[in-house]
Amino acid sequence: MSLFDLTSIHCPACGTSSDFQAAGSVNADRRPDLRQEILDDTFQTVTCTSCGEVMRLEPVVNYLDVEFGLWLAVYPPRQIGDYQALEETVQGLFNDSYGDAASPSAQEVGAILKPRLTFGWPATREKILLATKGLDDVAIEMLKLDLLRRLPRAPLRAGVELRVVDVTEDSLQMIWVETASENVLESFEANIQLLKAITDDPEPWAEIRESLTGGVFVDIQKLYLGAGRDAA
Ligand SMILES: [Zn+2]
Repeated sequence: MSLFDLTSIHCPACGTSSDFQAAGSVNADRRPDLRQEILDDTFQTVTCTSCGEVMRLEPVVNYLDVEFGLWLAVYPPRQIGDYQALEETVQGLFNDSYGDAASPSAQEVGAILKPRLTFGWPATREKILLATKGLDDVAIEMLKLDLLRRLPRAPLRAGVELRVVDVTEDSLQMIWVETASENVLESFEANIQLLKAITDDPEPWAEIRESLTGGVFVDIQKLYLGAGRDAA
């Protein structure tokens, strides 16, 4: 079931409030149109009836996609600093719904789901895109670390992320994006062979893979946001 709550959103440009159906949960198997809206960056956007400003609701959404084996707990970007506590909460929620604490039939579904925690729409869209393309999101995060070493300069700072926005046979389209505003700062293409080099020779990456998959927040930001889970 996909669940929505009626809420109101205030236009930052003119102050008019508009009624809005805020998504609390999305079932992409039953509502593939909602999966597509997320991929199109139109999901949870509303146009101000008074001045035409386009606004987007910050996400607090649970996303289920059995077809592509993905389960997401999506939080607003401003909560990224709490990722360690949220990892525990979200893992518990997943266990209750599809893990050890769930019914045998739910556990069967859970066995094919990758549980992930994301902050903001760009990360959420990326996880869904990668799932639909059959790409390993952990390898993509490792590729980002590799790219950070190769790029002559990178606009890396708090609130700015590196995201994959499209995948072709030869390349990955990447953007540097401000998470909260979704403003794209820069874009570039990465040769898909760089990803292949990582997946073909995983041994040197084993330690980083372990760090990235130590919780449901699978994102290179956890490597520099704090000291990591061991310090908690
Ligand atoms: Zn307005």
